[in-house]
Amino acid sequence: MPAEPSPLIDPQLRRIDTLRVSVTDRCNYRCTYCMPADGVPHGARDETLTFEEIAALVSLFVRLGIRRVRLTGGEPTVRRDLVELVRLLRAIDGLQEIALSTNGHLLAELAVPLRAAGVDRLNVSLDSLRPDAFRRITGGGDLGRVLEGLAAAARAGFAAIKINAVAIDGFNDGEIVDLCRFAWSRGWVPRFIEEMPMAGGQTYLPGRCLPAAAIRARIGDSEPGARVISDDGGSDRGAGPARYFRLAGAGPEGAARRFGIISPMTEHFCDSCNRLRLSTVGALHACLGHDDAVDLRSPLRAGDLAAVERAIRAGVAAKRPGHTFQLVGLGGPRKAMVQIGG
Ligand code: SAM
Repeated sequence: MPAEPSPLIDPQLRRIDTLRVSVTDRCNYRCTYCMPADGVPHGARDETLTFEEIAALVSLFVRLGIRRVRLTGGEPTVRRDLVELVRLLRAIDGLQEIALSTNGHLLAELAVPLRAAGVDRLNVSLDSLRPDAFRRITGGGDLGRVLEGLAAAARAGFAAIKINAVAIDGFNDGEIVDLCRFAWSRGWVPRFIEEMPMAGGQTYLPGRCLPAAAIRARIGDSEPGARVISDDGGSDRGAGPARYFRLAGAGPEGAARRFGIISPMTEHFCDSCNRLRLSTVGALHACLGHDDAVDLRSPLRAGDLAAVERAIRAGVAAKRPGHTFQLVGLGGPRKAMVQIGG
């Protein structure tokens, strides 16, 4: 029997157990903080990993200790037959969790088949509850459709649904509490993301990133006598970068009042980063904030799985201690979020 391969541990002794898989670099929305105004170049069709290739890579990653996969993009639901990929991944022994990040536009049709195929958890982007503002920030998105998609997801029985909003001063800072109440009243967890300067800072408006402390203050101030307390425990901690809090005080407490903050800019979490990212064309990125990557597609297509494993280990060995987003214009990556999968 072959020896168990050693797990993926990087030079900072971070154990890697989560893989984000971008299944497409295309998107049906054009979020202003994500998609550069001129769009992004797309890989040729034959450069894109097939579902069988993705599943072969995920199987190998699982042998190396990956336990959770998140499907992302671009917008993963625009990749034709995504449900088929979920079925292939679900059949992989040892893969404990399949999660999906989506803008929700196609969820009304896809929530039930995705859940039936094996998606456990869902993150849905929702930056505003105002239809006009939503249309503006998403470059033409349809809030009504996303709300229908969320309602379908609620009926489909996912283990958890999280609502993700990029928090932008002067855009949705006045909606932080509304987004919390919207999510809480449905049993979901709202999360707020500090905007990152991706794409060489092209999509970034300095000064508009709403810092984690301001997000907590807005939620804490929403009720007389209420306070925000840390709440990182429990089974619903999630495997991702968010730190969790709870609004304690008047009103019902517990899971229904939890919220998360992903704060790469003001309270970064690089020391606990446990993930890798696989791009649509089979490049393995060890850090969202840097452009370096290793090619897994060539050795995979050459049928050399030992070389794929060596490339994965090289990527992990080169994982940077942290991003440098704080150095806006100097420190961010050239790649756009839509190219690597947020
Ligand atoms: N299309 C899917 C979605 O909407 O969730 C998956 C991909 S999207 C790139 C993943 C997440 O990244 C979304 O929640 C999006 O709001 C977030 N995002 C995109 N660009 C960002 C940026 N510059 N800073 C922070 N978050 C960003």
